[in-house]
Amino acid sequence: MNYDYEVAIVGAGAAGYSAAIYAGRSGASVAVFDKGMGGGLATEAPEVENYPGFKSIGGVELMEKMKEHASQYAEMRFGEEVTDIEIEDDKAIITTTRGKYNVGAVILCTGTEHRKLNVKGEQEFAGRGVSYCATCDGFFFKGKKVAMVGGGSSAVIEAIYLKQIGCDVTLIHRRDELRAEKALEDEAKEKGINFIWNSVVEEIFGDEMVKGIKIKNVKTGEISTLEVDGVFVSIGEEPQNELAKKIGLELDEAGYIKIDEMGRTNVERVFAAGDVTGGVRQIVTACAEGAKAALASMKVIGKRSPY
Ligand code: NAP
Repeated sequence: MNYDYEVAIVGAGAAGYSAAIYAGRSGASVAVFDKGMGGGLATEAPEVENYPGFKSIGGVELMEKMKEHASQYAEMRFGEEVTDIEIEDDKAIITTTRGKYNVGAVILCTGTEHRKLNVKGEQEFAGRGVSYCATCDGFFFKGKKVAMVGGGSSAVIEAIYLKQIGCDVTLIHRRDELRAEKALEDEAKEKGINFIWNSVVEEIFGDEMVKGIKIKNVKTGEISTLEVDGVFVSIGEEPQNELAKKIGLELDEAGYIKIDEMGRTNVERVFAAGDVTGGVRQIVTACAEGAKAALASMKVIGKRSPY
């Protein structure tokens, strides 16, 4: 069979880059499609401190290194969104914003997107004080008061980052206990971050820009107002599973793609890896899953594979 590419990888985050390296090194012709410029959500991490080999490295720097490495083995097709995938007996047909390609195997590494609060003012003030990325937008709030909403590791890491660049940070969490790693909680407390517990944001208000938020204490029902210039929302992620749904992949109840131990989905020729498959969602596990899916995919294109 004459394919345009033997392996098409959708999504250039940690899983996608790792899959590209493993598929390319197995002798396959590989393309990586990404609607943006690649790097995935890891680029939003101010510091990554648990990727083996690097005690501390910026998310952008780490992903640039991965991109450079993967580019040796795969064609990077940035700014090209995959809009449809059809699966046939002997191939898959990928439709993108630029064309159509016949491929032998597809590895979906489409990751996740930021969960929204879905409260009044959130959409209205997006980009005018409401942000989902502290490393991208934190600079604009230097010397100002900001709220960080969420109690997971991402929220705490980003709160620490904002504090370090000179913001006055209040973290608002809906329970009285963080979900984040204990070490991060200790660091946040030591750095002087304020905490508001058992509370949810009810409304974001302002004029041209955000001026403050209304907060409800879920234990007492009391409503209070906090004046802030910025609201950073970090309340978890939702899987980007639109393509998976189109192909008819099996998803779990939260919408993550179900895979076996080698990244195989329920559809022949289609594999998945990284955050879109759920799990612990770490950079290192995304890389591992990308590697496994790539190795398993060799079988469907008739290349040597031990799996
Ligand atoms: P997460 O762990 O899912 O945490 C989401 C947080 O947002 C939770 O505290 C949750 O509250 C809260 N939340 C969810 N929906 C909410 C809503 N509608 N309103 C208010 N609060 C809401 O998400 P994450 O922090 O983005 O982390 C994602 C994954 O990446 C996790 O597996 C995490 O361990 C991993 N990660 C690891 C590191 C690291 O290893 N250093 C760094 C970043 C991320 P509840 O706690 O009450 O559920």
